Amino acid sequence: MEIKSAEFVISNTDVKKCPEGNLPEYAFIGRSNVGKSSLINMLTNKKGLAMTSQKPGKTQLINHFIINNEWYLVDLPGYGFAQHGKSGREKLKCIIEDYILEREQLVCLFLLVDCRHEAQKIDLEFMEWLGENGIPFTIIFTKTDKITKGRLQENLKAYKEKLLETWEELPPILVSSSEKREGRDEILNYIEEINKS
Ligand code: GDP
Repeated sequence: MEIKSAEFVISNTDVKKCPEGNLPEYAFIGRSNVGKSSLINMLTNKKGLAMTSQKPGKTQLINHFIINNEWYLVDLPGYGFAQHGKSGREKLKCIIEDYILEREQLVCLFLLVDCRHEAQKIDLEFMEWLGENGIPFTIIFTKTDKITKGRLQENLKAYKEKLLETWEELPPILVSSSEKREGRDEILNYIEEINKS
């Protein structure tokens, strides 16, 4: 898919205030600092579209961006960062859960995972919650430039094995490096195929 336009539309904390209409939505979520903003900027070819930050946990809003006037890219808050405190974390959790459970336009949720680390409890628990609620998701392993190709294969294998301890089937898996601009075509084509179907 060619990106002809990518514009910020609205930020909010309330699923009821998300844009009206029937355009399909593709949402991106993951632990703070996983590389979500960098990935969104890389996909859309717009450096400052999503706010990248050295300070993890900054995006606490549901951010809608309209792409090619055809679909919304949705930047969800990064989860699991201690700095929000318990009440802050609970509030964030509600925002995220309401959006995921109530937003009918959501067609695909991309869950971002740093390819360098072994499966983290918080991500596994989040996937379990998605499974319990019947929400399909696709994993994107980020920052692949940070490790060798061999190491990446090893990590992917270990991650899949871990998932298969609790899941009968693996979700679709994609890989990306915003630094090297890798995975861009695969992710955009993946979205295009879903939009066509
Ligand atoms: P977010 O909190 O998930 O939105 O993460 P950011 O996109 O702000 O990235 C967090 C940090 O990781 C920043 O210092 C980025 O420059 C760095 N980063 C993000 N993606 C990549 C990548 O693909 N490769 C490398 N080497 N660094 C990355």
